[in-house]
Amino acid sequence: MHDSIYFQEHHLATREMVRAFAQAEVAPVARRFDDSQEFPWENVKKMGELGLLGIPWSEDLGGAGLDTMCFIIAIEELARVCASHSITISAHTTLGTSPIVNFGTKEQQQRFVPKLAAGKVLGGFGLTEPNAGSDAGGTQSRAVKKGDRYILNGTKRFITHAGVGEVFIVTAVTDPTAGTRGISSFILTKETCDLEQAKALGIGHDPAFKAMKGFRSGKKEDKLGWRASDTRELIFEDVEVPEENRLGEEGHGFINFMKTLDAGRIGIASLSLGLAQGAFDEALKYTMERKQFGKAIAEFQGVNFQLADMATEIEAGRHLVYHAAWLSQNGHPYGKEAAFAKLFCSELAMRATITAIQLHGGYGYTKDYPVERMMRDAKIGEIGEGTSEIQRMVIARHLMRQSDV
Ligand SMILES: Cc1cc2nc3c(=O)[nH]c(=O)nc-3n(C[C@H](O)[C@H](O)[C@H](O)COP(=O)(O)OP(=O)(O)OC[C@H]3O[C@@H](n4cnc5c(N)ncnc54)[C@H](O)[C@@H]3O)c2cc1C
Repeated sequence: MHDSIYFQEHHLATREMVRAFAQAEVAPVARRFDDSQEFPWENVKKMGELGLLGIPWSEDLGGAGLDTMCFIIAIEELARVCASHSITISAHTTLGTSPIVNFGTKEQQQRFVPKLAAGKVLGGFGLTEPNAGSDAGGTQSRAVKKGDRYILNGTKRFITHAGVGEVFIVTAVTDPTAGTRGISSFILTKETCDLEQAKALGIGHDPAFKAMKGFRSGKKEDKLGWRASDTRELIFEDVEVPEENRLGEEGHGFINFMKTLDAGRIGIASLSLGLAQGAFDEALKYTMERKQFGKAIAEFQGVNFQLADMATEIEAGRHLVYHAAWLSQNGHPYGKEAAFAKLFCSELAMRATITAIQLHGGYGYTKDYPVERMMRDAKIGEIGEGTSEIQRMVIARHLMRQSDV
């Protein structure tokens, strides 16, 4: 693959390192974890050792001290071979850690970020509820202040790392009369559901984080894709949360989560781009090897035009992703560009993976080749962190706000 105007030496070094790890450690096990739906703890430990669970955080906070572009590159490279591994670092970093880095007090940052950045524990973010999905402002979970604590009740749905994780940032209504300005966010801690495994590997559990009574994970989802990523409910039953665990001001929970989702969208865009590239890699290799009518099928114009179209779209998606990441890294507004990148790349990943299956013929429809897994993994890109319809709404809102009319 080409170098980019967005890259400096450390970006290329990150890309080489993650690509080598993905090929050596992830590609050989991706199918096994997709089949079993197990969480790939051993590889998560290795990703932690490589610094991949805290790429953009400063070394003071235990991070790798790199930048957003390095983070985006790591997500893309992992997704080229396994989207479940990729979403693990994306969700843990952007959803599970960045709100504490961006909105937490110094004390909260020191208490939580070094352990999250090292991968000592996994983090997650609980916004979606059974009756509040796209309309996240319709949050029904309640946090009632009692002295120096809040009592939380409610249920979150489809939360990445809900079972395996120990640190969660969740939203709950503190003032039911104030609409979205009545939503606050809190840092909650629980024990991982894989305690034995975590203890054996020395990651995934930290006894310093108290398991809050009444806070637990619920049903594990049996999913179409991202099958090695842990997705479950999070349940709060009279959970006592000390005031010092409120993240940001009361009433700022919703707006802070919206900012977090802007960043998360670049992550999903990059993951989708990686999937599209991975599907293209497989399609190119296969069509150059597979012979029909006496020659490699890639020789037929009907096939190589499809490869050319895929490569062109992937290149366009890559520019959208890197541009949004560059804007974010350099302190410019990037909400619209993040939505552009997420919308385009998630739909691109569906087109590219379906084309890759088509170019593999019947073989592409079997588990002997990774392209069917890639197609299943691609679909959630159009749903998670704001559906494609919500991205279009976000983009349209930006366009109308910027209009002179
Ligand atoms: C594998 C997985 C992992 C996830 N991880 C997390 C996580 O870590 N944390 C978290 O908080 N959430 C997470 N989610 C939840 C995800 O963000 C939501 O599923 C998503 O936002 C959509 O919400 P919903 O499922 O309730 O669908 P709904 O909001 O019910 O949407 C159903 C359909 O209606 C459409 N629709 C809704 N409103 C409009 C409108 N105004 N205009 C046009 N169309 C509309 C939608 O686009 C969609 O097509 C995850 C989901 C999955 C499946």
